[in-house]
Amino acid sequence: MRVFKDDTYEMVIIGRAEAVKIDDLRDWHALRATCVRCGHAGYINACVFRRLYPRYIRLIDTEHRFRCTSCNVRGAVSWMIVKLRR
Ligand SMILES: [Zn+2]
Repeated sequence: MRVFKDDTYEMVIIGRAEAVKIDDLRDWHALRATCVRCGHAGYINACVFRRLYPRYIRLIDTEHRFRCTSCNVRGAVSWMIVKLRR
């Protein structure tokens, strides 16, 4: 597992992004959504995400459902899985 440092989160890669399912997320994970268009980024707690979608759904299958709160473009989201810093 590769780990990247950030101010509030540690970036973790738990597998190829295309292959990660909701079921692979743990309570201490969060999702960093980056807008491909404008670069705006936001975080969603994995607990919230797991309540929204069935566990067999892949992360990339949810990308088209999200809208950027900065440039208002829908479906241009790229996910990165991060771990809450202790
Ligand atoms: Zn945007």
